[in-house]
Amino acid sequence: MAKPRILSGMRPTGPLHLGHLTGALDNWVPLQDSYECFYSIVDWHALTTDYADPSAIRANILEVACDWLAAGLDPKRSTLFVQSDVKQHAELHLLLSMVVPVAWLERVPSYKEQQQQIAEKDLSTYGFLGYPLLQSADIMIYKADAVPVGEDQAPHIELTREVVRRFNHLYGPVFPEPRTLLTEVPRVPGTDGRKMSKSYNNAVFLKDPPEAVRQKIRPMLTDPARKRRTDPGDPEVCPVFDLHKAFSSKRTQDWAAEGCRTAGIGCLDCKGALIDHLLHRLETIHARRPEIAARPDTVWDILAAGSRQAREVARSTMEDVRAAMKITYPIR
Ligand code: SF4
Repeated sequence: MAKPRILSGMRPTGPLHLGHLTGALDNWVPLQDSYECFYSIVDWHALTTDYADPSAIRANILEVACDWLAAGLDPKRSTLFVQSDVKQHAELHLLLSMVVPVAWLERVPSYKEQQQQIAEKDLSTYGFLGYPLLQSADIMIYKADAVPVGEDQAPHIELTREVVRRFNHLYGPVFPEPRTLLTEVPRVPGTDGRKMSKSYNNAVFLKDPPEAVRQKIRPMLTDPARKRRTDPGDPEVCPVFDLHKAFSSKRTQDWAAEGCRTAGIGCLDCKGALIDHLLHRLETIHARRPEIAARPDTVWDILAAGSRQAREVARSTMEDVRAAMKITYPIR
């Protein structure tokens, strides 16, 4: 029996960090065993916010692909590709835009949230409003059965399900309604306690060598109550402890929590233990990545082969779509 198919994507905004590891890759890698996986570097999505200066996107695609391969995504088991190399995404997006009411897009929670958060960019564009619909097209073009996402992305899958229902109602049953494969995503704060993000300059990147990881973790903010070594603290308000919860063993977490509350350990001891666990977690990635990054042509070839594979599926879906909509003409 054919494996169910999933689709997921990442924007090429730069090298990947610990948040990408726990939020996506830790989940994507094992999914390769039980699903037919399509993983896309969604460069058109990057343009919805970075349209004014797209000059870094090309280099960022390579960074993401190197991180993917180093983390264990396997081109023999998954289709790894670049979104803009499969033009059918754009055609389906355009056709869907004919049938989807603007109000559906305006009510997607991330629309207003991101406009406020990224206030330095003008996001009052047609493309930015439409990006959740482009995401729907990304999913539907492969007739994906499911989409692995964290809770914050779940409204986008709900929108896709609505779009599928509307399309199928108008033109006949072309698309399956994709399920949401909800994944537990631990909180991964950056070194300043805010959400880890390249744009906040607070990220620990997967490709950071061990010394860089140490230098980023050591000065991290902790519970402000621990001014002196003898002051007890509360691990639940400390971003270092959030990272322990994401990367350390249960035993180390218990040791850190107990030592924090009783002032039995200092924050540097606590961070030292975290660094050990982090470096252990990143060991395989650190071992594989330099060799992968040293051969960029091979990485581009992998993406090109993935894109060819993806195009085959997308081409066939678009034939179904055009036939269902009765927009096939003899001039083709
Ligand atoms: S001991 Fe650990 S958990 Fe407690 S405040 Fe210091 S770094 Fe944070």
